[in-house]
Amino acid sequence: MSIALWVVATLLVLGGFLYFRSSLLVTSIGLVGMFAIGSWFDIVGPVLWTLLAIVLIPFNLAPFRRGVLSKALLGMYRKVMPEISETEKDAIDAGTTWWEGELFRGAPAWKKLHSIQKPELSDEEKAFLEGPCEEVCKLMNDWEATHELADMPEHVWQYLKDHKFFAMIIKKEYGGLEFSAYAQSRVLQKLAGVSTILASTVGVPNSLGPGELLQHYGTKEQKDYYLPRLANGQEIPCFALTSPEAGSDAGSIPDTGVVCKGEWEGKEIVGIRLNFNKRYITLAPVATVLGLAFKLSDPDKLLGDKEELGITAALIPHDTKGVETGRRHLPLNVPFQNGPVRGKDVFVPLDYIIGGPEMAGKGWRMLVECLSVGRAITLPSNSAGGVKSIALATGAYAYIRRQFRLPVGKMEGVQEAMARIGGNAYLMDAVTSFSTKGIDLGEKPSVISAIAKYHMTEKLRACMDDAMDIHGGKGICLGPNNYLGRGYQGVPVAITVEGANILTRNLMIYGQGAIRCHPYVLEEMLASAETNKEGLVRFDKAIWGHIGFGMSNFVRSLVLGLGFWRFTSSPYSDSTAKYYKQMNRFSANLALLSDVAMGVLGGSLKRKQRISARLGDMLSYLFIASATLKRFEDEGRQKDDLPLVHWALQDTLYKLQESQLALLDNFGAVGTTMKAIMYPFGRIAKRPSDRLDSKVAKILLTPNASRERLGQGQFLAPEGQFGYLEQTLRDIIAAEPLFDRVRKAANDRRMPFMFLDKVAAKGKELGVLSDEEVALLQRAEQGRLQVINVDDFAHEDLIAGKHARDVALAAAGKQNNAA
Ligand SMILES: Cc1cc2nc3c(=O)[nH]c(=O)nc-3n(C[C@H](O)[C@H](O)[C@H](O)COP(=O)(O)OP(=O)(O)OC[C@H]3O[C@@H](n4cnc5c(N)ncnc54)[C@H](O)[C@@H]3O)c2cc1C
Repeated sequence: MSIALWVVATLLVLGGFLYFRSSLLVTSIGLVGMFAIGSWFDIVGPVLWTLLAIVLIPFNLAPFRRGVLSKALLGMYRKVMPEISETEKDAIDAGTTWWEGELFRGAPAWKKLHSIQKPELSDEEKAFLEGPCEEVCKLMNDWEATHELADMPEHVWQYLKDHKFFAMIIKKEYGGLEFSAYAQSRVLQKLAGVSTILASTVGVPNSLGPGELLQHYGTKEQKDYYLPRLANGQEIPCFALTSPEAGSDAGSIPDTGVVCKGEWEGKEIVGIRLNFNKRYITLAPVATVLGLAFKLSDPDKLLGDKEELGITAALIPHDTKGVETGRRHLPLNVPFQNGPVRGKDVFVPLDYIIGGPEMAGKGWRMLVECLSVGRAITLPSNSAGGVKSIALATGAYAYIRRQFRLPVGKMEGVQEAMARIGGNAYLMDAVTSFSTKGIDLGEKPSVISAIAKYHMTEKLRACMDDAMDIHGGKGICLGPNNYLGRGYQGVPVAITVEGANILTRNLMIYGQGAIRCHPYVLEEMLASAETNKEGLVRFDKAIWGHIGFGMSNFVRSLVLGLGFWRFTSSPYSDSTAKYYKQMNRFSANLALLSDVAMGVLGGSLKRKQRISARLGDMLSYLFIASATLKRFEDEGRQKDDLPLVHWALQDTLYKLQESQLALLDNFGAVGTTMKAIMYPFGRIAKRPSDRLDSKVAKILLTPNASRERLGQGQFLAPEGQFGYLEQTLRDIIAAEPLFDRVRKAANDRRMPFMFLDKVAAKGKELGVLSDEEVALLQRAEQGRLQVINVDDFAHEDLIAGKHARDVALAAAGKQNNAA
C-alpha cells in the first residue's frame, strides 16, 4: 500500500465515523486500526504512533480531559457567553421541542416524522363543525358587522355564547367544550373564511387569556367561580398586557400594583392598589373580566421580605371602582371589539391574583408558558382558513371573469399569482394540522408557534395581495358583494399581534430555536452556571459532545455539498424523494452554520438579527417542508395533489436556499469559506417552473378532487359568498356547452360569453335548448353578474359617524318642515 493510499483511506475512515456520528471511543479505535494497518505496511512508525497517542489519550482519559481540558474550556466559555436573564430563563424553561429539534440536529429521521399520528377530529368535534360552526357562518354578515354596526349583531354574539364558542379550551368539568388544538384550528379556519371579526372574537378567549391562565394556575375558588361563567358566556374575558410604553418589550410595562392596606366591602384588608393604562386590548370594550398584567411591589413588606415582586397577573371585574373600559380603537376597518383599558387607584384584594398571593411576581412565567400554545393555533389557523377560502374563491372568480374572450385564470400572468395562492393554501393547512397535532401530543412548542405565527401570517399577506390583484376592481370596491376587501385590510393586524413579525423572525424563532433545539447548548449553559464538581462533569459531557457534533456536521455538509445528498435516505423513492434528500443536506448545513455562528459571534449573535433571522428561516422552511410532506402522506399520497406538493416544496426549499446564501454572503470570510464548502457546485434547489405554476392554477380553476381537498372544512353553503361563487362556477361550466350549441346554431362564431339570458332566449328560439337548459343559462347569467358586479352607494349611505347623524337630522328636519 502506498502512503498516499493509506492517508486517503485513513481520512475516509475518520470521515465515515464522523459522518455517522460514532462515539469518541469508537472513532479512536477506528483510527488505531488504521494506524495498525499503516504499521503492517511500514507506513506508520513510532513517531506517528506517539502523535496519535498524544491526541487520543487525553481525550479518552475522562479524569484528565475533565480536569485539564474541560476546565480550561469552561473558563473560556464563562467569559464569552453572557449570563441568561431571568426572563430568558423563563422563556427557555417554558416549552418543549418536537420535530423542529430533529431538523435542527442535522440528520432528520424521516421515519419518526411519518410515524406521528395523523390528526383526527372526534365525533363531537365533527358535529360542532358541521352544526353550530356552519350555522354561525350563515348568521354572520361581514358587511353589516364591519360597515354598519361596527360590531357583530347581538344575535351572533348570543349564538356564540349559547354554543360555547368562547369555551373551546375550557375543560368539560367546568362546562367547556375541551376541544383538541386541531379541532380549535379547524373551527377558526372555517370562521376566518367568513369574517375576520368572527374569527378574532372567537380566537382571543380561546388563546392566551383568563381561561387558559385560570386552568393552569387558578386557585380552586377562582376556577370554580370563573370557568363555568366563561364557558357559558356569562363572562367575556380579555387580557391586557400591552401599554403605550410597552409593546413588543412587554416585560417593561410601567403599570403598577402596590401591596397596601385598604378598605374592601367595609373592612380593612391587605390588597393591591393598581394604576394602569393599557391599549389595543381585544374584547376590552365588552369584557366583563379583565386579565391584567402589572408590576407588583410590596414597599411595606406586607407579603414577605421582597419589595419588588415583578410582573403579576390578576383578574379584575370590569365594574371595579376606578376601572375604565368601553372606548374603542378602530383596527383597520375590521372593527372587532378592541380598545384601551385604564385604571386609577383601583383597590382589589390579593386573591384577585391568578393563583392567589403565592403567584405574585410569577406573571411573566405564566404568560410565556401559555403563550406558545395559543400562538400556534389562533393566528396560523385564521391565516390558513382565510387563504383556503380565498384559493377557492380566486379560482372560481378567475374562471368566471373573462377578458379578451378568455377566463382570466387561463392567462399565464394570472396563473403565476394563482399558483402562489394554491401552493400556499396546501402548505398552510399542512402546517396548522401538523403543529396543532404536536400540541395535542402534549408539546408546548414555543419554536414551532413562532414559526407558524410568522410564516402563516406572512403567507396570508402575500396571498391576499395576489388575490386582490387577480380580482382587480372587484376586490377594491367595498360593499356587501366584496368578499376580499376587509380581509385584505385586516392583514396587518395578524402581522402585528402576538409578537410583531419583524421581531418574531429576527429574534424569536432562532433565538429560542438555537437554545432549545440544539442538543448541547442548553446543557452547556446550565452546566456552566453551576460552580460545583457536578457542573464540570455535565459541562465536560456537553462540550465534547458538542465538538464531536460540530465535526460531524462539517463532514456531513462537505460530503453532501459534493453532491452525495442525492444518495442520502428518503422514505419514498417517488418524485418526493428529492425533497427529503435536499432537506438532509440543508439540515446538516443548518446544524453546522448554527455552531459556526455561535462560535464566531458568541453572545453577540443575539444582536446580529439578520444572521439570526436567516438561521431561523432555514429552520422554519425545513419545518414547513416537513409538514407538507407529512400532509401528503397523511392524506394517502394523492397523486392528483402532486402539483400542489411540488409547488409548496420547491418554493419552500428554494427560499431556504436563498436565505442560507444571503446569510453566507453577509458573514465575511467565514461566510465565503462556508459557501465554498456548502455550495461547491452552486445552487441545488429550483423555484417552481412556469409549467408547474400553470398546473397548480388549473387545480384552482374548475372543480376537482384536489381543489376540494384544498378547501376542506371551509364554509361553502350557498347562503355564503364563497358557496355562491362555487355554485356559479358549476353553473358556468355547465352553461358552456349550451352556449357553444347556441353559437353554432346561430352561426355566430364571435358571440361573446355574456348576456347568457339572451343567449338562452336565442337558443330557445332556435329550438336547440330545453326549458331546463334555458333555466340553467339564466341562473348562470344571474350568478355571473353577481360575481363580477360591485356595489354602489348613495352619498348619504357612505358618510359615517357624526356626519351621518347630521345628514339624517337635516333630512328629518326637511320632512317636518314639508309636513
Ligand atoms: C388589533 C390589535 C389587537 C391586540 N390585542 C391585544 C390584546 O388583546 N392584549 C394585549 O395585551 N395586547 C394586544 N395587542 C398588542 C400587540 O401584541 C402589540 O401591538 C405588539 O406586541 C407590538 O407592539 P407595538 O404595536 O407597540 O409595536 P412596537 O413594539 O412599537 O414595535 C414596532 C416595530 O418594531 C419591531 N421591533 C420591536 N422590538 C424589536 C426587536 N427587539 N427586534 C426587532 N424588531 C423589533 C416590531 O416587530 C415592530 O415591527 C394588540 C394589538 C393590536 C394592533
